[in-house]
Amino acid sequence: MDAEIISVGTEILLGNIVNTNARYLSQKLAQAGIEVHFQTVVGDNPARIMSAVEIAYTRASLVIMTGGLGPTKDDITKEMLADYFGRKLVYDEKALQMMERLLKRVQKESLLQSLKKQALVPEDSLILYNHHGTAPGIIMEKDGKICILLPGPPKEMEPMFEEYCMDYLEKLSHKVLVSYNVKMKDFDHAPVIIVGEAPVADALGALLDNENPTVATYAKDDGCLIRVTAQAADREKALALLEPVIKEIRSILKDEYIQYIAEEDHE
Ligand code: ATP
Repeated sequence: MDAEIISVGTEILLGNIVNTNARYLSQKLAQAGIEVHFQTVVGDNPARIMSAVEIAYTRASLVIMTGGLGPTKDDITKEMLADYFGRKLVYDEKALQMMERLLKRVQKESLLQSLKKQALVPEDSLILYNHHGTAPGIIMEKDGKICILLPGPPKEMEPMFEEYCMDYLEKLSHKVLVSYNVKMKDFDHAPVIIVGEAPVADALGALLDNENPTVATYAKDDGCLIRVTAQAADREKALALLEPVIKEIRSILKDEYIQYIAEEDHE
């Protein structure tokens, strides 16, 4: 399964905020064994959002969007996607009740009318209730296309993703990805002609064409990093695929020039 992440928000395009949601989602999708080939950023503009969605579905069957689920006029992600999937918007009673309770707790009941729009959801969709804010997330499926709509604020989006999406995606992908990093020593502790990216890539040779696990080199400021990533039905099987390749890398690159070998931390 291929996925595309669409981050909605003019603030991102203007450089006012950093698109940390795309980074978070890409890492989580990799963990769930789903490949992301494109990340798109689009402003709060109906025609451009629709065009981004149409393009995304030409190259991915899963589209995950963040932002634009709020109560204001420029929050239009849900409306655009309901339209794309041909679904009517209806009030979700539970989302409405949760919103009423939250507003009562913070003594802002007068805001209900202006926030109520957020409890409108496309009919026949899966609702991801928001325990850290007011806008629920939404999952829609139709004709092999899936969309997941999540709120923009990371403190709402991340717990919602953990609670509802991780299991959902792992079931879809039927596989997990596990990555190990082999970090070469920094230039103060080893000759650059050995630990720089070019000599390391030369030494690894055909290993860089491996399909599973994949082996890739990255030039870091302080020496090369090699990432080895295995894809398998479960973690155990992925680790079994990784082991011989990491062993081979160690024997090619020599332990004395390796700073550390560790599993990639996705948190
Ligand atoms: P709200 O209900 O708060 O209006 P929303 O779903 O409509 O949420 P936006 O209005 O698009 O989301 O964004 C609200 C805030 O969330 C932004 O001001 C920003 O702080 C944060 N945010 C939005 N998108 C991103 C992103 N891609 N990466 C990081 N933070 C983001």
